[in-house]
Amino acid sequence: MGARKRRSVTRRTRSPSINQQSRPQVSDTRVGELITRCESLLHRLGCSRASIVVEITSDGKLIAGALGLNFNGVATGRVIIDDQLLKALPYDELEFVLAHEVSHIFRNHLADSLTAAMVRALIEGEARKDDRVKLLLLGWDVWKVIRASQGHLPPTAATTRANELEADALAVWLTRDKETAKRFLLRIVGDNPDAPSHVWEVFGTTMPLPALSMRDRLAALDLLPY
Ligand SMILES: [Zn+2]
Repeated sequence: MGARKRRSVTRRTRSPSINQQSRPQVSDTRVGELITRCESLLHRLGCSRASIVVEITSDGKLIAGALGLNFNGVATGRVIIDDQLLKALPYDELEFVLAHEVSHIFRNHLADSLTAAMVRALIEGEARKDDRVKLLLLGWDVWKVIRASQGHLPPTAATTRANELEADALAVWLTRDKETAKRFLLRIVGDNPDAPSHVWEVFGTTMPLPALSMRDRLAALDLLPY
């Protein structure tokens, strides 16, 4: 989903596990309700089967996210939601969040980002052994910055952008409630539409650059015909 905060990780799924005390205070009933809502949204998108685990986090790394795959209409995966967000959101905004996250699973967006991350990890592994590859990586990052200054997003950032806009569009198609989607998106950036929604990084993590601003996401919602 995007915007970042900082806190500590815990997990909650349908089945209770060890380490109860460090978990966020979210009941199994509440988690079960979220799972039902996610699976129902996936069925409405056309999945014949859906099996979703909901994880409540409090590590502050992300406010919501999804990991999963859709194979021939059979969707499986994990939807992750920050516990504070869960407490703060009214029903309709939470429905948009869930719809956005399951849309990532429905459209197999994880496969796009995994492929790019694996290629980069392979090259970084080689760079640790060979200084010429390290130089190649540096050149690659410099090239991305130059291209960005000319208004072109690097391929990974362009994929992030396209995937987020697609998940928003599918989510609003599901909820038929554009105004709630816009209210939520503004909420997570403190009502500042110029804040970045997603960033891409070069030279390690020292230079985060916007892949997508919240204003872009809001404008894309306005263009939807529904
Ligand atoms: Zn997203």
